[in-house]
Formats: sequence, C-alpha cells, structure tokens
Amino acid sequence: MKNRMRVEFDSISANEAFARVVVAAFMAQLNPSMEEVADVKTAVSEAVTNAIIHGYQGQVHTVEICGETEGRRLTVQIKDTGVGIPDVEKAMEPLYTSRPEAGRSGMGFLFMEAFMDEVQVESEPGKGTCVTMCK
Ligand code: ATP
Ligand code: MG
Repeated sequence: MKNRMRVEFDSISANEAFARVVVAAFMAQLNPSMEEVADVKTAVSEAVTNAIIHGYQGQVHTVEICGETEGRRLTVQIKDTGVGIPDVEKAMEPLYTSRPEAGRSGMGFLFMEAFMDEVQVESEPGKGTCVTMCK
C-alpha cells in the first residue's frame, strides 16, 4: 500500500527534533527496526540542519518535508527555497564544508549517504535545494 505525508515548519533549530520525530512516526507503519529508525532520524536531522543553516543562513523561512511509503520502502524529501548549492558534486565530497569558520566539518552528506540507501540532491542557486533519500 502507498501512503504519503507532507509537513512544513519554520527554519529554526528547535524544529530539527520535530522533523526527526515526524519522520520516525510516519515510518512506524513499516514496522522498522530500531536501527532503521535511528538511521533515518540521523539523515533527516542532517538535511534539515543544512536547510536551516546553509539554505536560509539563519533567516526564518519554510522547510518542507514530504514522505512516501510504498511496500517496505520509505522516500523522504527535505526542501528549502534558500540560496541553493552552486556545485552539488563538490558539496557532497566527504569533509567539504563552505563554513569551516562556523565549526562545520563537512560530514552531513557523508552521514546521509552512510545511513540511507539512496541520496539525491537537486539544487539551483537562488532557488533552493531538495534532498531526496530512500531507505
Ligand atoms: P556538517 O554537516 O558536518 O556540520 P556541513 O553542513 O558544512 O558540515 P554537509 O552537510 O556535508 O557539511 O554539506 C556540505 C556543504 O553543502 C555545506 O557546507 C554547504 O555549503 C552545502 N549545503 C548543504 N546543504 C545545503 C542547503 N540546503 N542549501 C545550501 N547549501 C547547502
Ligand atoms: Mg551539514
């Protein structure tokens, strides 16, 4: 059976935990293992943090999460309409960060790829970013 959900929330750091819990609750109907839930929560957290700090650079705008389950498969999309990524390939290189001075370490995409089965990033400078992940 197919099922879908969509939530929107403000890009403030207090909503990182909210986003993790929403996706965990949505995937509960797949009867996932504790490990699968933990993996998805970590990946969602990284993508949402990126939308908040990089996409919107601390300004408050809307982050959208869409989820879809089909059979045993979960697809999650995290979208922002922020600054976008000029070079996605470079941004996804392990340990690349555009904000070393802010104490960032360039691990976010690495975690997303390690904990999810598939990660796709679509982004356009000035338009925003959509991260699609499957498990
Ligand atoms: P860390 O996740 O370890 O705190 P980081 O966020 O810099 O560090 P990644 O999450 O791997 O590392 O992201 C790499 C780079 O991709 C970021 O430094 C940023 O330049 C860019 N980026 C990622 N997500 C977005 C986004 N939603 N909007 C704009 N730029 C982004
Ligand atoms: Mg990050």
